[in-house]
Amino acid sequence: MAIFDKLHPISSALQDLQNCGVDSVNVVIERFTAPFEAVINGRRTVLAGTNNYLGLTFDQECIRAACEALQQEGTGTTGSRMANGNYAAHIALERELAEFFGRKGAIVFSTGYVAILGMITALAGPGDIILIDSDCHASIYDGCRLAGAQFMIFKHNNIGDLEKRLRRLGKQTENTLIVVEGIYSMLGDRAILADIAAVKKNYGACILVDEAHSLGVLGKQGRGLAEEAGVEDDVDFIVGTFSKSLGTIGGYCVSNHSQLELLRFASRPYIFTASPSPSIIASTREALKIIRARPELRSRLWENARTLYQRLKDMDFVLGPAPSPIIPVRLKDIVKAVAFWNRLLEHGVYVNMVLPPATTDGNPLLRCSVSAGHTPEQVEQICEAFASLRDVSGPHLMS
Ligand code: PMP
Repeated sequence: MAIFDKLHPISSALQDLQNCGVDSVNVVIERFTAPFEAVINGRRTVLAGTNNYLGLTFDQECIRAACEALQQEGTGTTGSRMANGNYAAHIALERELAEFFGRKGAIVFSTGYVAILGMITALAGPGDIILIDSDCHASIYDGCRLAGAQFMIFKHNNIGDLEKRLRRLGKQTENTLIVVEGIYSMLGDRAILADIAAVKKNYGACILVDEAHSLGVLGKQGRGLAEEAGVEDDVDFIVGTFSKSLGTIGGYCVSNHSQLELLRFASRPYIFTASPSPSIIASTREALKIIRARPELRSRLWENARTLYQRLKDMDFVLGPAPSPIIPVRLKDIVKAVAFWNRLLEHGVYVNMVLPPATTDGNPLLRCSVSAGHTPEQVEQICEAFASLRDVSGPHLMS
């Protein structure tokens, strides 16, 4: 049937990968042997591509809270927040998120993807403008498309390009939403948020920052890049996910704008999906407490991130611009990326293989994500696995 014709490019790309002997999009975690070790293809493997920045997925307090909620409130809410799925615990988590971020209000969504879609579509519609950084996550691009607003892309972290576009908009800047990320998910670099916030103030625009990868990672209290950059007062909306530092699934938005409550009613991705399960909410609340109470986890995360970044740099790999819990090993050749990724797995190390078009520059990368939960031995094993790639590639790792 012709309706399936559009799937041919996908099918041939998958076939090409399989011809190289890998199936990087169908990796199966067979069972866990430790929080950062699992059996993959029958082999014990260190997990170095999880986004589990603080290592909380096996935290005993989070698990206990989840089990208790499961017993008391059941496996799922079976409905939307606007119908039967609005439990006291959802509201308590919203209160705790608002308090953590020092904001007036918070909304909990079912995933981070849904939170982005829900906020962008509620804030911007036909007649409005959305300006996004070119390196923004797919969810932000999808939100812009769904919103029906005119959307424009400015060059990654290029303040001149952003300002030029705002200048051209004239009075329309008052109807403009700027969207950037705290830490960009592929290269691990930060938005130049102090500059962006200053420009947005000048032009009277509104700004939303996706702190998916920076909650619990940046800032003295772990509130993300806006805190680290000292511009929280200038950021209108912070959106994030529970699926990284908090170790569960779900999303949120916090803001000081009193209209946040009304935005719930304008957000179809909030209204027309079931709310997060009680066990998820309970473990997320516990994880949020841990972010506040245990800043040493953030220190350990950065220690591991700096160690791995420096060791890979010393091996001449081409990385992201600065140490970060997301460390991309940038390559130019898909065949080499596949060979490297396979070799790493043979050495018992899993990282994310990211192939174009998912990458920002059309080149493949091997994306490592570091955690506070990685032991020194695991970090060493990751380094040794990368060192073993020298024989696959010869001395010129980017060639
Ligand atoms: N924003 C960014 C920057 C992300 O990287 C992701 C997930 N990788 C999301 C949003 C979506 O989060 P979730 O997995 O909770 O849907």
